[in-house]
Amino acid sequence: MSMRRRTLLKVIVLGDSGVGKTSLMNHNIYVHKKFSNQYKATIGADFVTKELQVEDRLVTLQIWDTAGQERFQSLGVAFYRGADCCVLVYDVNVLKSFDNLDNWHTEFLNQASPTDPQTFPFILLGNKVDIDGGNSRVVSERKAKDWCAAKGNIPYFETSAKEDINIDDAFFCIAKNALASDRAQDIYFQSVPRAVSEAEPQSGGCAC
Ligand code: GDP
Ligand code: MG
Repeated sequence: MSMRRRTLLKVIVLGDSGVGKTSLMNHNIYVHKKFSNQYKATIGADFVTKELQVEDRLVTLQIWDTAGQERFQSLGVAFYRGADCCVLVYDVNVLKSFDNLDNWHTEFLNQASPTDPQTFPFILLGNKVDIDGGNSRVVSERKAKDWCAAKGNIPYFETSAKEDINIDDAFFCIAKNALASDRAQDIYFQSVPRAVSEAEPQSGGCAC
């Protein structure tokens, strides 16, 4: 048996309803859904996990999404507790979703109360850049970047969950920044050798 070290990071995804939060976090097939219904029922939220390698660290992102209850104040403390990174999402084609970013940013800081709000890692995603080849967008990249600068240099990515634009880069940045902020909680686990005894039945079990 060998000991491996991995880091668990809790990531919260916030933004108006319909901007593409669920599509972004469910985008890749290597995302594993866990305890979905249980969490949905109890705290109105849902999470998936995503594994990434950042330099020499194995990182597990636990990404929390609202279960269609994006109204302010509707998410409980359990949703925000212990967050390592907050991903804000808006739709580049919907001005209101951009204007609401201030509210989501403030809401997060109020609810999660991070120890150092000035340096807490946020990231902004401007989603649905694919629509109409970009002709229907109403929020320019410049405007979004200015907002990010005013909030303390939040990293910004323009994404499309539909056409797989920038999503992996964005999640890598999320993991990197959350790690760098050194709020990460390390978990240790034992990795058990895969060898299966010949005496063990092969049927009925998980193939992986
Ligand atoms: P949420 O309410 O923020 O979780 O948004 P959803 O992920 O449910 O997405 C809302 C709608 O927008 C769905 O019909 C998605 O298929 C669509 N959608 C999400 N992301 C994109 C995108 O990048 N491009 C396009 N064209 N549609 C998207
Ligand atoms: Mg959703």
